[in-house]
Amino acid sequence: MAITRRDFINGVAITVAAGVTPWQILRASPQTAARSLYYPPVLTGLRGNHPGSFEAAHALGREGKNVNPANVPVEETYDLVIVGAGISGLAAACFWQELRGKTSRILLLDNHDDFGGHAKRNEFNVDGKTVLGYGGSESFQSPRNNFSETAMALLKTLNVSIEGMAKSFDQTFYPDLNLSRGVFFDKKNFGVNKIVAGDPGRAVADDIPPDRMNARDINAFINDFPLPQADREALISLHTEQKDYLAGMSIEEKQAWMDSHSYSQFLREKVGLSDSAIRYFQQRTNDFQAIGIDGTSASDARICALPGLEGMGLPPLDPESLADLEEPYIYHFPDGNAGLARLMVRHLIPAVAPGNTMDDIVLAKFDYSQLDNAGSPVRLRLNSTGVHAAN
Ligand SMILES: Cc1cc2nc3c(=O)[nH]c(=O)nc-3n(C[C@H](O)[C@H](O)[C@H](O)COP(=O)(O)OP(=O)(O)OC[C@H]3O[C@@H](n4cnc5c(N)ncnc54)[C@H](O)[C@@H]3O)c2cc1C
Repeated sequence: MAITRRDFINGVAITVAAGVTPWQILRASPQTAARSLYYPPVLTGLRGNHPGSFEAAHALGREGKNVNPANVPVEETYDLVIVGAGISGLAAACFWQELRGKTSRILLLDNHDDFGGHAKRNEFNVDGKTVLGYGGSESFQSPRNNFSETAMALLKTLNVSIEGMAKSFDQTFYPDLNLSRGVFFDKKNFGVNKIVAGDPGRAVADDIPPDRMNARDINAFINDFPLPQADREALISLHTEQKDYLAGMSIEEKQAWMDSHSYSQFLREKVGLSDSAIRYFQQRTNDFQAIGIDGTSASDARICALPGLEGMGLPPLDPESLADLEEPYIYHFPDGNAGLARLMVRHLIPAVAPGNTMDDIVLAKFDYSQLDNAGSPVRLRLNSTGVHAAN
């Protein structure tokens, strides 16, 4: 059944059927004390799609089970039910609350044991000290150029200052220690374990100021690689000469070729690099693309500042891509974008943690037993998979 815009304008009451959304862990612990022990940021092990997060979906998809909502009693009623408590779902709840007021009843469901989706955090206790790490995505991506007015307004509501983030990030921490970016060549792939420091190359969303790279001349840098001389020479000319490696093609043909071929194909077929020289680049896209150069198109390699792509008469990068390339990854919380997820959860459910600033959110201890409290207009239910939606 279609859900029309008018349904939402008129305000639909959405019902949640019992049994469809088992909150297994917390509901299995009726004691309040046991509930307050629940603190997923300290859990270790593989924390992606952990056991408990996928069984309900597998039952529907892989095992072909049907859910007949007519057979389950309706237990609860809400103005809005949001499936997924990642950045999108949490932001949707904030926007709805802005429109409808704080008494509007919202339920957020997430199949994982923590909220945030790809924006989670890890907390470790090391010798009595708390150490925070990203359990997911790291930094606001190009907020100065690419965030919409709507996104910026939400950040303002949450007391997030982009300028404050930029000021807090110590961009010269490594340069001040006389360190530089380097490349580790491993024995398995290159026959020897060797670190070559002083990389002068540009990196996507680089947080090191260009004049503080402690870089070496490109010739000296590459000539230290544990690679045959012919490979080193080929890599130097790839970095220093502006050649048209797709000569003979129109601009449109070049773009189509680059969209449909990987950067490793480009290096092998068009530049003529050997396998060992290509291996040097293999992991250069892992950070931004989350995949190696064999899975990254030549077009995307351009956004990752990889060499060999600027002498082919291509039009300049579009402003959004250029901002992604150039805006540094300095707009982030110590726990990455989990800080933003936590700010939104605290905004929606104030009982979950004290405080109201972007600074105090970092160490604010979250009481997970408050997330799905019957007395709160906004409830966030973890370990719960949405398996059926109807208007
Ligand atoms: C490795 C990696 C690094 C990244 N780094 C950055 C970065 O540094 N900066 C940046 O801006 N972006 C980054 N991104 C992208 C960013 O993480 C995502 O764009 C963003 O987190 C997506 O948020 P979302 O809420 O749309 O989806 P998600 O974070 O995926 O959240 C959706 C949630 O809904 C749940 N869900 C889905 N179906 C159901 C269901 N039926 N019932 C219950 N729950 C359900 C999901 O399991 C999940 O928990 C990165 C992504 C990856 C993979």
